Amino acid sequence: MTYDLVIRGGTVATASDVVRCDVGIRGGRVAALGADLPRGEKEIDATGRYVLPGGVDSHCHIEQPGSVGGQNADTFVTGTTSAACGGTTTVICFSPQKRGGSVKEAAENYHRIASKSVIDYSFHIVINDPSEQVLEELPKLIEDGHRSLKIFMTYDSNFVDDSQVLKILEVARRNQALVCVHAENHEAIKWMTARLLDAGLTHPRYHSWSKPPVVEREAVHRVIALAEMVDQPIQIFHVTCGEAAEEIRRAQARGLKVFGETCAQYFVLTEDDMDRPGFEGAKYICSPSPRHAREHDALWRYVASGTLDIVTSDHAPYMYEGPTGKKVRGDNAPFNIIPNGVPGVETRLPIVFSEGVVGGRIDLSTFVAITSANPAKLFGLYPKKGTIAVGADADIAIWDPARKVTIRNDDLHSAMDYTPFEGMEVTGWPVMTISRGEVLWNNGEVTAEPGRGEFLARDPYDYIKPRGIFPTPFDPITGEVGSSR
Ligand SMILES: [Zn+2]
Repeated sequence: MTYDLVIRGGTVATASDVVRCDVGIRGGRVAALGADLPRGEKEIDATGRYVLPGGVDSHCHIEQPGSVGGQNADTFVTGTTSAACGGTTTVICFSPQKRGGSVKEAAENYHRIASKSVIDYSFHIVINDPSEQVLEELPKLIEDGHRSLKIFMTYDSNFVDDSQVLKILEVARRNQALVCVHAENHEAIKWMTARLLDAGLTHPRYHSWSKPPVVEREAVHRVIALAEMVDQPIQIFHVTCGEAAEEIRRAQARGLKVFGETCAQYFVLTEDDMDRPGFEGAKYICSPSPRHAREHDALWRYVASGTLDIVTSDHAPYMYEGPTGKKVRGDNAPFNIIPNGVPGVETRLPIVFSEGVVGGRIDLSTFVAITSANPAKLFGLYPKKGTIAVGADADIAIWDPARKVTIRNDDLHSAMDYTPFEGMEVTGWPVMTISRGEVLWNNGEVTAEPGRGEFLARDPYDYIKPRGIFPTPFDPITGEVGSSR
């Protein structure tokens, strides 16, 4: 039987191996890896190229309804096309909940919106308000394959307090889902914001002063403690600094199932980016805040040691110009009412590759691990996604590792009117992206068809299995007194 497609002569890298071989693809899946495979119906010459698993971006806000104080600029078509052009073949997006609203209806609505996706996708279920109704709806939603819940410990419209965090951790524990956390101390940020505004300090630069590393470190510590009470695995989203990562490292050393994510922008942006003249700094406002440049090295150390094992984009596109984005409340708005978020789904992989692999901070397999294999594993998509192995989906990005690119928003495929990485020079760029054997992006040409992406329902998997260990002999889930310690 012949192959539909053979990718020939490239350097194939997974999270564990780097080898020169051909990849034979049949029926949308990898059918063979080997030397001198027989000719396929189609052939791609990958000589001098890296052949990597397509990126898995487990943190993307795309066409998310009801986003606070602004509107996502990307539709599912532009957002996922942008992802594909940057070498990403799977995204996990956020099905939002309105306070007092249903998570079930929100998810049904979001499924309709996401059906235009050009790449495969899955959802995190956002919970802003764990009402009786929501707690009743969640088990069925989780069973239908939404195996991750997202909570915020800050933002007026989203935050859940400790009692609500515990309720959500419990429902996840009972129904086998991962809980992902935006961890910052809400009251501390509110207090500091009020003090800054009282002092007349409203410029975008004060965003970072309103939420220094201490508010992140405290909330990370607290939510880890709450998860330990419930024996529930959690992932800390977008870790920005060494002191927050250190809390995760200590939890992992105690054997807890606590996982840490950071994002590409936190390796390259700093608090000084918000200190630009006029309103320009608003382009860089995201939360947690970009930090001092010294934290870039700290993050790389925690990535290299495995404490932070996933790097995403936290793509959150708000236009700079116009009435729906950063200027939704005027072009002189105080920092605390400017929409939070930066775009980055297309630039994530090139920035991490250039800073990490070309920069000598990580090796090629670690790059594949933190951008593809690990997110696939942590979110129950592996080995269908996240690797190049016989039987896996043929989701592949072919890279020119030597290509020098100056990032320009005009060359990107998002609907955005700016990129925070304008003018940045990177080495290495994906020149072709393949999803289930189909070419979506070929050296400047987009061939992706809207609606071809499939929803990825996720079954229970190892990472979200609890440890069965509680702080006392009492098991609060079964109500039994046992010998679990
Ligand atoms: Zn986010």
